[in-house]
Amino acid sequence: MTTMTVPATSPTAAALLNTYKRAPMEIVRGAGCELFDAAGKAYLDFTAGIAVMALGHGDAGVAAAMREALDTGLIHISNLYRSEPGEKLAERLVELSFAERVFFCNSGAEANEGAFKVVRKWARQLGGPAKHEIIALRGAFHGRLFATLAATDRPQYRAPFRPLAGGIGIVERDLDELRVALDGERVAALIVEPIQGEGGMRVFDPAFLQAIRALTKEREIALILDEIQCGLGRTGALFAYEHAGITPDVMTLAKPLAGGFPMGAVLMTSEIANSTQPGDHGTTFGGGPFIAHVARHVVDRLADPRMLAHVRSMGTLLGAALEGMVHQNPRVRAARGMGLMWGLDVTPPAADVVAQARERGLLLVGAGEHTIRFLPPLVISAAQIAHAMKVFEEALAAA
Ligand code: PLP
Repeated sequence: MTTMTVPATSPTAAALLNTYKRAPMEIVRGAGCELFDAAGKAYLDFTAGIAVMALGHGDAGVAAAMREALDTGLIHISNLYRSEPGEKLAERLVELSFAERVFFCNSGAEANEGAFKVVRKWARQLGGPAKHEIIALRGAFHGRLFATLAATDRPQYRAPFRPLAGGIGIVERDLDELRVALDGERVAALIVEPIQGEGGMRVFDPAFLQAIRALTKEREIALILDEIQCGLGRTGALFAYEHAGITPDVMTLAKPLAGGFPMGAVLMTSEIANSTQPGDHGTTFGGGPFIAHVARHVVDRLADPRMLAHVRSMGTLLGAALEGMVHQNPRVRAARGMGLMWGLDVTPPAADVVAQARERGLLLVGAGEHTIRFLPPLVISAAQIAHAMKVFEEALAAA
């Protein structure tokens, strides 16, 4: 057997599977919107663990919720028994959204895979086995498991793993093409991110979302909104669909849901839910008492109108600064976004800009070759945004 050694200069720890090009510093502590490395250097975190740490790092309320949950002595009991925290969390999500039923799981990809299963079951009862196709859009990112990879439009992620799950296709972000592709005899569901995150922070026009809602309703096709990145307050509304004045049949959530613990959720109408019976789907860990108690605290904080107003006002500041750069900085081509979810197209490679910003104590993440994402914790301040913009422009000049 041949072994491959990781070169000594590699930032990748030798015992970890080589799936990420990790930055070389080691993060050892977090406080609010800052992270600190082993050498004591501070970084302003405009990644929030890729849109996860909405309340920032080391939040006192999350810590208190964790302690309360631990006091029960319960971390996990499986889904064989009832437990109040998961039931209460589901009730709260139902109160706050269009949904009537919720399924909890452990990640975003898992939430989307769960959504695919519930819509297929619903569609089969409606139109028989022929009505099974799931359609995703050009530029979509829905996860890296087999079915979600088939719904993810990244050739380099997909190619090495073919064959992907069948009955899942990608269609252009174009109403005319969708009118042709969405045949109600074959298609069970259309899945859409109201703002495409990994695909470059593309905000769908409310009119487009309204049109696909009307089209899917007319043809008895389920509309799944993937709000894993844009949901739970990031756009300044609790759910991004609110901006378009529509409601989906199914919505998936994950990232910020449990304050940094891995949790996903599939929210759905009772019409979709009624087709699912015990045994159709399941998970060992999903919605356990500890994580659900913490998530309930997080959801209440993110749904607080004062939090959403803060996101809207900080989003206005961040958006104005980034849009200003499009006109003033020749290295910036375009800005797209909403709330505290922005993408900036730049001329240098995104990885170089991210590295230069990191050197200067600002953490950013790319979305494709030339797009930088700005995803700060939702508790970011105006002063922190102003500082980040100054550091970013220096980094961009140096890249
Ligand atoms: N859907 C969207 C819109 C995402 O942004 C992501 C992750 O970036 C996922 C799904 C997959 O989530 P996870 O990485 O938790 O599986």
